[in-house]
Amino acid sequence: MLSIKDLQAKVEEKDIIKGLNLNIKPGEVHAIMGPNGAGKSTLGNVLSGREGYEVTGGTVEFKGKDLLEFEPEERAREGLFLAFQYPVEIPGVSNLEFLKASVDAVREHRGQDPLDSVSFLKLAREKCKAVNLDQNFLKRGVNEGFSGGEKKRNEIMQMMLLEPSLCILDETDSGLDIDALQVVADGVNSQRSPDRSFIVVTHYQRLLDYIVPDYVHVLANGRIVKSGGKELALELEEKGYSWIDEEVV
Ligand code: ADP
Ligand code: MG
Ligand code: MG
Repeated sequence: MLSIKDLQAKVEEKDIIKGLNLNIKPGEVHAIMGPNGAGKSTLGNVLSGREGYEVTGGTVEFKGKDLLEFEPEERAREGLFLAFQYPVEIPGVSNLEFLKASVDAVREHRGQDPLDSVSFLKLAREKCKAVNLDQNFLKRGVNEGFSGGEKKRNEIMQMMLLEPSLCILDETDSGLDIDALQVVADGVNSQRSPDRSFIVVTHYQRLLDYIVPDYVHVLANGRIVKSGGKELALELEEKGYSWIDEEVV
């Protein structure tokens, strides 16, 4: 699904990703943890092709293709989905219109006809229900005035509609109370399948009680410095990150 080799990237002339390696097979869920400022969000932004994030070395293969050659919109159409740590508001563009345009673009890329408005509305309402968002959120501007938790649930709804191959969830748990966390985790778990993979970035072990990862990685100082199974998250919760710095960095 994804093969990252010796990736290096800069933001504002500063080296942030410094030789990062990561391999993800179809169906796997990988958690990435690590101290603040380690480069976790930067990794997601680099993979999604966000402006201002400059790749200076290394390779990224996504489903056998050179991901770095693609424009951001092409990456999304190819099946890469990033749920942002801070979802953007797009006032004046209705959530429903935005979702339909995104889904139509992906369908076109796959050689499928666009859904008619009535079918799409029905589908979108189903997904709202699945993430416990009122249908009124479809009419509102994209994320406009949504609370933190509502934005996160909206991102998961978007993910469900787009049916991506690789989902990157950047601190989707931050700012969620325990009920919302459960809703988000259920949403993610319902999308797990043998041909879909996930990267779950989180500060807290708690989310990983609900979304049980196959692998846990520690990202520190722009690199993956330790990898393990789900028990590594528990160890990190208990001991923090400093012991890894001493061991590995
Ligand atoms: P994490 O998500 O692991 O907490 P980030 O990837 O957000 O860390 O940040 C890594 C480093 O890159 C930080 O020092 C941060 O200030 C810097 N950085 C990230 N994005 C930007 C940006 N758009 N402009 C300037 N600096 C940035
Ligand atoms: Mg952070
Ligand atoms: Mg971050």
